[in-house]
Amino acid sequence: MTDLLVKNAYVIDPLSGIRGEIMDIAIRDGKIVEDTGSGAPVIDAGGCLTFPGGIDSHSHVCGTKVNFGRYMSPEDMRAGRTARKGVMRVTSGYSVPTTFGNSYRYSTMGYTTVLEGAMAPLEARHTHEEFTATPHQDMLANTLFDGNWAIMEAVRDKDVKRAAAIVAWTLDAVKGFAIKLTNPGGTEAWGWGKDVHSVRDEVPYFGVTPAEIIETMIRANELLNLPHSVHIHCNNLGVPGNYQTTLDTIDLAPDLNRNRQSLYLTHVQFHSYGGSTWRDISSKSEDIARAVNSRPQVAIDMGQIMFGRTTTMTADGPMEWKLYMLHHNKWSNHDVELETGSGIIPVYYGRKSLVNCVMWAIGLELALLINDPWQCMLATDNPNGAPFVKYPEIIALLMSSRYRDIERSAIDPRTEHYVPLFAIDRELDWYDIAVMTRAAQAKALGIERIGKGHLAEGAEADIAIYPLKPDELDPAADYQQVMAGFAKTRYTIKRGRVVARNGEVVVEGANSTIWSRADVPPEYDLNRDAEFVKKFEQYYTVRMRNYPVQDIYLPRGYFISTEASL
Ligand SMILES: [Zn+2]
Repeated sequence: MTDLLVKNAYVIDPLSGIRGEIMDIAIRDGKIVEDTGSGAPVIDAGGCLTFPGGIDSHSHVCGTKVNFGRYMSPEDMRAGRTARKGVMRVTSGYSVPTTFGNSYRYSTMGYTTVLEGAMAPLEARHTHEEFTATPHQDMLANTLFDGNWAIMEAVRDKDVKRAAAIVAWTLDAVKGFAIKLTNPGGTEAWGWGKDVHSVRDEVPYFGVTPAEIIETMIRANELLNLPHSVHIHCNNLGVPGNYQTTLDTIDLAPDLNRNRQSLYLTHVQFHSYGGSTWRDISSKSEDIARAVNSRPQVAIDMGQIMFGRTTTMTADGPMEWKLYMLHHNKWSNHDVELETGSGIIPVYYGRKSLVNCVMWAIGLELALLINDPWQCMLATDNPNGAPFVKYPEIIALLMSSRYRDIERSAIDPRTEHYVPLFAIDRELDWYDIAVMTRAAQAKALGIERIGKGHLAEGAEADIAIYPLKPDELDPAADYQQVMAGFAKTRYTIKRGRVVARNGEVVVEGANSTIWSRADVPPEYDLNRDAEFVKKFEQYYTVRMRNYPVQDIYLPRGYFISTEASL
């Protein structure tokens, strides 16, 4: 038995209803327990801010597309080099670091679980290989279904149960966690050099609309009782005037689940633009926030951008083409057979670019205008909006209107005519931040049931202790300290082991990969479905028997099991 006792912690644990109490936390064998035996090693938290381990519910850190981002920018690799130190390996890369670089940086910030935002099923092995090389975080993979031919045929035939069967088979085959729709229908249209421009546009050849794909997949998801909801990157990302598409998408979300949202919209900042060209782009965060505020069945993440250099990468191939036509820098494009696509380009977000300043404001506005922090999670769509190492800065901006005012003087002065940010005086508190960086993620992903995102008895002992004393700090005034505090934990504890201390990783990690497995009745088992097998063999370049990811790719994998209601 391995015991550990954390004493004098200033605990905020929203899922357990704890809003700031000095407490002791007892740990045994990686779990939170009532009491430790006498003689357990003690960590004195000294009244410091203590949260459950951080959870990133949308980040791109592993897989073919991330790796291609590394190839494309050797200058990025040079930017973030760190030397070998103790157990820490050499790392390199700033916006797309090596897997170990990502893992160490998350760990020193107190993050213990990360969801990879987009895994192409056909390329799942690469994602899982990189998961095993991201040792300090438990990993989950959103699995792309946006341009899946079998799914679109099921949508065309209005056969929700077949769509559910395809999802169940695919998640089981590729060890995926949840359904991801990236520009639904648009990634398939891009195979024909086209795109879709509203939720009512038709996808070439299949004759279905994004709205039909979204509605079918939400219902299929609930039939399978999957832990997470459908996770969507809406159509028209980054296009002036796209907020209407986002509102139309929100309108498609029924209220189907008692425990969580029915639809998770990711990086909503990129989907909240008014205007009709890059010259008159404006913030429509108020409209989006109003829609979210009136629909508890919807949850979002911010998709905050921060100024500086980064790399954009997405399954949304046509979007990256449009971005390339603006930047004329490097561009990569990729088609994933019957499933999806992708594109990558490096970008620079500048304080002198009015468009970039408007984008920066919108992300913050969403977090400040959405009343319930459980509906708006903090994320940058790492690395698209900014590398995740910018989270502490974003937290400080949300907690301090004084800091926002200081930033105002450093950006394009015209910005305030296009955004409401500087008229908002709301300042988030420690509890809001705890919700937006772990508790809401656990709830939205449906992983609180496996002991993630909280510190109740039986939960996984994933804990972040920050060098911040809420009793002595005024975050509105002391925003510099807030920023520094969230950048480096005093202790990051993963499954009961101290893995990082004062900004340094101190032991080798051993993560798990969590996936979802829905049991379906035999008549919905696609391994026995002659038509599915025939089409698979006909159109894929791989044989169906070679497609599933073998267990050896997930040395510490486990699944959340559900019973499908088919
Ligand atoms: Zn993303």
